[in-house]
Amino acid sequence: MDHTIVLIPGDGIGPEVSRAVRRVFEAAGAPVRWVEYQAGVAALEAGAKDVLPAETLGAILEHGVALKGPCSTPVGEGFSSVNVQLRKRLNLFAAVRPVRSLAGVKTRFENVDLVIVRENTEGLYSGAENQVTDDVVISMKVATGTGCRRIAQWAFNYAARHGRRKVTVFHKANIMKLTDGLFLRLAREVHEETHPEIEYQEAIIDAGCMKLVQDPTQFDLLLLENLYGDVVSDLCAGLVGGLGVVPGANLGVERAVFEAVHGSAPDLAGKGVANPLALLTSAEMMLEHLADTRGDERCRTLAQRIRHAYTRALAEGRRTRDLGGDLGTEAFAEAIIERLN
Ligand code: ATP
Repeated sequence: MDHTIVLIPGDGIGPEVSRAVRRVFEAAGAPVRWVEYQAGVAALEAGAKDVLPAETLGAILEHGVALKGPCSTPVGEGFSSVNVQLRKRLNLFAAVRPVRSLAGVKTRFENVDLVIVRENTEGLYSGAENQVTDDVVISMKVATGTGCRRIAQWAFNYAARHGRRKVTVFHKANIMKLTDGLFLRLAREVHEETHPEIEYQEAIIDAGCMKLVQDPTQFDLLLLENLYGDVVSDLCAGLVGGLGVVPGANLGVERAVFEAVHGSAPDLAGKGVANPLALLTSAEMMLEHLADTRGDERCRTLAQRIRHAYTRALAEGRRTRDLGGDLGTEAFAEAIIERLN
């Protein structure tokens, strides 16, 4: 039985990198049936009234799992961002973003192996903004005990399941005493109640960022509220080769949307030069998720084969331009396909 997966190519470089992922999956004989839906500016251009059309949301609700390219939201036209809508409407409260050094990709540090767990539904993404006077606008940072506890539990359970030895919370509770204070208090409580065997640390986010760029190997799993998670994810992508190589997953209780950390990269769109690895590794996470949640071990074996193939390609110097190579999107996909065994 094949798994039906909703594929949302998205905007900018999204269609190019999605095509490359589809090619690799087809060549590998993946037990996946793609159903394609639009979101973002692509949906508006196809005649939809919103950046997240009801049928796209409905398809994810029906099939449970989606692979999504980057989706843009026109600024100042009253649309709520596709990503924010998806995370809220599907209750995808946990974003997980593994950040690993890749063989053959030379960066300042070797052996980076971090996992970023980001709360995905609260904080400054609450959308609660007000024009108070002509001169004053406010944006509200929202934290709930339920949301903070839920993400802390998720992070510690993830750490325990994946053999992670240390959880570090980045915060600014010295300034945002109530919101970040709550996040911190519940992280401490969950640690003590559920996984006291895992090392627990806290770092004020500014100092934490400095330490990250000095020596990322001192961290293991980072737990952050929404906005900090967004910013620190891109920082960490820079430690291992940039936005072209870092995957992500947005997970809820019943649904999961896998997407690269990068955006639509309008500077590269249509040129056939974007690195498809970020979306391909997100798809690899999707295969692991299918194996974990549906017990389909074929998906785990396939994830390993794909990992092996792109690792070999990179190690043999077959790279896209963002990594100092000269291959286009399709040629890199081809190099991966040639190394599938
Ligand atoms: P958006 O507004 O959709 O977030 P953006 O251009 O502001 O788009 P990103 O798309 O996240 O932000 O990326 C920033 C830059 O990183 C891009 O302009 C591009 O140069 C580089 N980049 C992002 N993704 C990739 C990729 N897959 N391959 C190569 N370079 C990439």
